[in-house]
Amino acid sequence: MADTPHPPTNAPDFAIEARGLDKTYAARKKAPAVNALKGVDLAIPRGSFFGLLGPNGAGKSTFINILGGLVVKTGGQASIWGFDIDAEPRNARGAIGIVPQELNMDPFFSPMESLELQAGFYGVPAGERRTKEILEAVGLWDKRNAYARTLSGGMKRRLLVAKALVHSPPVLVLDEPTAGVDVELRRQLWDYVKRLHESGVTIVLTTHYLEEAEALCDTIAIINHGQVVACEPTKALVRRMDQKTLVVAPQSELAAAPAGFEDVQAQLRANGALAVTYRTSQHSVEELLDRVRRAGVAIKDLSIEEPDLEDVFVAMTSAQS
Ligand code: ADP
Repeated sequence: MADTPHPPTNAPDFAIEARGLDKTYAARKKAPAVNALKGVDLAIPRGSFFGLLGPNGAGKSTFINILGGLVVKTGGQASIWGFDIDAEPRNARGAIGIVPQELNMDPFFSPMESLELQAGFYGVPAGERRTKEILEAVGLWDKRNAYARTLSGGMKRRLLVAKALVHSPPVLVLDEPTAGVDVELRRQLWDYVKRLHESGVTIVLTTHYLEEAEALCDTIAIINHGQVVACEPTKALVRRMDQKTLVVAPQSELAAAPAGFEDVQAQLRANGALAVTYRTSQHSVEELLDRVRRAGVAIKDLSIEEPDLEDVFVAMTSAQS
């Protein structure tokens, strides 16, 4: 038995690992081929709340759909919970629950029936089904016998979350889960997803909402044009942009940006304001204001502009395109 390969341990370091993942959608009649993923390397740590961030068309859904077995990759490797998606597709698929983007569901099944069917599909024995627990958790127990077509958009989305959970996967992927969901339902959904995360489920969230990713995710990968352009802890990603801009409205119009700001970026804006962009780790506002005064600029008004993930995102994705 010594040469029997060990099965992957129950707790791999990475919930999802992709190496050189490629996807080219073949050309069709009039549409040219699309190289949607170009050698994606991504390691999603077990237990993380991971954000896969990128603009529309970046390749997020393609990546997720390869993991879910809906799209066939054209190159590279991927594993879920240590199971290679080619070598051990059943185990790989059993380890992941995917909440799809679209609200496509059979209108004639009730939430109860949908979950039971899904559990049957995954081969969850009747005695191990958690239908009631899951429906209660997503707030649909009261609606358990209602036709899906009578459910509101938010309820349908929660039903999709419920369906993704029937086989108790250790990895839950939410593909753009809050598009079109109102604020209150969004909050409810996140409360529940946070609880799942606290219970040990690895969460992967794809989104193009930067604020959402910044608020929820501990690690963020940015994907653009089928390539990963950044992948690091959210804080580090934001810190990378530790720059702020001091904006000074002068009492009287300046002809040009004054001297004395060579080590930072100073420019005159079209509205006459002097904008000094600096790294917070290297300069203080105090020091810069002193310099502004020493340059003979009388200050009428001032403000400080801070970057957010949007700036990081724009900087990184524009560098690639
Ligand atoms: P995202 O989820 O980030 O919006 P997608 O993975 O949906 O990005 O799309 C990545 C690229 O692949 C886009 O250019 C898109 O038009 C293309 N694409 C997606 N699905 C298909 C498909 N079934 N056939 C052809 N091209 C596709």
